[in-house]
Amino acid sequence: MTYTITLIPGDGIGPEVCEATKRVIEAADVPVKWEVHEAGAAVAEKRGMTLPPEVLESIRRNKVALKGPIGTPIGKGFKSVNVTLRQELDLYANVRPVRSLPGVEPRFEGTDFHIVRENTEDLYAGLELMMMPGVAQGVKLITDRCSTRVCEYAFEYAQQQNRKRVTVVHKANIMKLTDGLFLECFRRVSAKYPAIEAAEIIVDACAMQMVKNANKLDVIVTQNLYGDILSDLGAGLVGGLGIVPGANIGKKEAVFEAVHGSAPDIAGRGIANPTALIQSGVMMLHHLGETDAADAITRAVTHVYQQGSVRTADLGGTATTTQFTDAVCKALEATKIAPLAK
Ligand code: ATP
Repeated sequence: MTYTITLIPGDGIGPEVCEATKRVIEAADVPVKWEVHEAGAAVAEKRGMTLPPEVLESIRRNKVALKGPIGTPIGKGFKSVNVTLRQELDLYANVRPVRSLPGVEPRFEGTDFHIVRENTEDLYAGLELMMMPGVAQGVKLITDRCSTRVCEYAFEYAQQQNRKRVTVVHKANIMKLTDGLFLECFRRVSAKYPAIEAAEIIVDACAMQMVKNANKLDVIVTQNLYGDILSDLGAGLVGGLGIVPGANIGKKEAVFEAVHGSAPDIAGRGIANPTALIQSGVMMLHHLGETDAADAITRAVTHVYQQGSVRTADLGGTATTTQFTDAVCKALEATKIAPLAK
């Protein structure tokens, strides 16, 4: 069976890391027909819109997309493509595994926790207005429906991944109604999963715990803004934005993308680290049920990091994106002859 997958190369380093990921997935012998669609700043210049309708149509048809980072032109009236995609396709759960890689010095050895971020509301709902000159207001929208479904997703995810604990991150001591509602939904959902420990932590305390001892964390579920910030903090704990993957999950569609942005400072130079998108590709293969290929890629990436000689500049090496990708593809070829150590 051949999978048809929407591929959005995106802006900045997007096309470079997408090409790398495509090569790795093909080297793992997964039969894919890529439906390539442009979105983002490049299209905005040509067509006056950042998200042409055929992009959404393609994802709706194929159900699965791999997406490079997309920048939002600042101050030109364009709505963020990332936010629009999440809202239009109702991709309500954003999953970000934060895992250390061998040889990439993490702050804590063996860091391995997962952030499940609510993806469709909170201060990202776009409800902002100027009340009068000098006074702006943003609405923090939290609903029972969206809070409940993301908490349910987090517990289901924990169950699938054999995780022991789900921790809700909130600030309900101050935002009693909004965060209070999220917390209430979490408590209600947690009662349905007695085998999984339910824990609660205030967002500022969570930030401190991540820096003091991230290994105490397991699965985190939180609102949009806290999740956004904590994910980057998580990336910083395990070696930076170049390695942390992500998935946006909806009831019908799923879009896989790295945590990092378009990195305009290094775009077009061939030095971006493709690991984050390759690992997002691994999440996509798991989603498609291609577990063997996903595991083979994970072992190949781990092998390259274990060997240590091929690293991109963000991790102190000199390898280009292509050289790193070559090394992963070579390791994948080797797994076909003799499996690499798990
Ligand atoms: P956004 O607002 O879209 O999150 P940003 O500029 O805040 O974008 P990034 O684009 O992710 O954040 O970049 C932050 C820094 O991390 C930049 O210096 C960038 O070069 C670096 N960076 C991000 N992704 C990678 C990558 N894949 N490889 C190497 N460096 C990266």
